[in-house]
Amino acid sequence: MKIHEYQAKELLVRYGIPVPPGEMTDNPEEASEVAKSIGGGMWAIKAQIHAGGRGKSGGVRLARNLTEVSEHAKAILGMNLVTPQTGPEGQLVRKIYIESGVDIVREFYLGMVLDRSAEMPVLMLSPEGGMEIEKVAAETPDKIIKICVDPLIGLKKFHIFEAGCKLGLNKDEIKELYVFAKGLYDLYTGLDASIVEINPLVLTKEGRFIALDAKIVFDDNALFRHNEVADMRDFYEEEPAETEAGKYGLSYVKLDGNVGCMVNGAGLAMTTMDVIKLVGGEPANFLDVGGSASAETVAKGFEIILNDPNVKVIFVNIFGGIVRCDRIANGILEAIYGTEINIPIIVRLDGTNAPEALEILKKAGNPNIITSDRLSAGARLAVQLAAGGEK
Ligand code: GDP
Ligand code: MN
Repeated sequence: MKIHEYQAKELLVRYGIPVPPGEMTDNPEEASEVAKSIGGGMWAIKAQIHAGGRGKSGGVRLARNLTEVSEHAKAILGMNLVTPQTGPEGQLVRKIYIESGVDIVREFYLGMVLDRSAEMPVLMLSPEGGMEIEKVAAETPDKIIKICVDPLIGLKKFHIFEAGCKLGLNKDEIKELYVFAKGLYDLYTGLDASIVEINPLVLTKEGRFIALDAKIVFDDNALFRHNEVADMRDFYEEEPAETEAGKYGLSYVKLDGNVGCMVNGAGLAMTTMDVIKLVGGEPANFLDVGGSASAETVAKGFEIILNDPNVKVIFVNIFGGIVRCDRIANGILEAIYGTEINIPIIVRLDGTNAPEALEILKKAGNPNIITSDRLSAGARLAVQLAAGGEK
């Protein structure tokens, strides 16, 4: 789960990391009042959406007086912000964060993620942070300092001393950097985050560090332990179909292709998507109807897949382990009974009672249902039909 910058900064402060004073608002009329109460002579007006790259796309603007604050607030609130991370459809801005402006001397990047091969959280630091961090990572990855932190030892001063020296910081700056790194590590482990990023981490004219931007992603599987964090969820920022699917215990992720996929089990769903790609197609979604899929979940799955106008064909790939294939076959027929599905549905059912299932589907005589007993052949046919080919 992702949260907004203003929420992430609230959490940073709780872990001892300084951020500029600021306040969130969704009312453009209120913006100059908010800025006035924050004080100072310069403000940053920042679009609050769950995507980065706002700075380069007009979602972060600096104001030098209250009139400018008001103008920027009006321009940003309600705009459809398109950044490299939102996709071409963009994201509607419903909230802005107004914060006291900072005079930047240097921009660093500071982040923590899990390094699966090292089996440890890794702290990442770059002397060149800010809006060009992707470029640094792509072109000069050596500049990014990575420090694996053994969770049995935790983050210690020596970790940061080494990194600080590499960054060319003096003793006092290293001490301050430690406060940031420690806070980041404690937040990451304490709140079960999967990514915590401060970019830019800024060195100010006064020689102090301050977190100018914050991004936190949480591990959904641990949210039950952190009600406060779970309450920060903003459904407006999430794909509505994904939220709807979640209510029925389905995991659905919308993608950009035209082959709708309905699969049971995350591993088989990934495999199905891989095979579709391998034969030259593009999956429209990831959908795991669960290991114990029922007729109801299958019906809901169809509804969600069909809501995506890009879908030209549906590929059902279900392995009957816990679930019996004949039940699924009946579920498919029930799901499409009475609906006007006029796209091909390729069904590959294998496992318990697969022959009975195929018999049921054949008997139904629905011309849109095509059975296949092989994953690769089924995928190939789906891709061919999605591209406008003949059966
Ligand atoms: P992002 O582009 O979505 O990551 O948004 P950021 O919050 O990182 O802002 C983008 C850039 O705007 C930063 O890298 C800074 O260079 C600049 N910026 C943000 N706030 C301030 C500020 O208070 N003062 C100045 N001078 N620049 C700022
Ligand atoms: Mn940023």
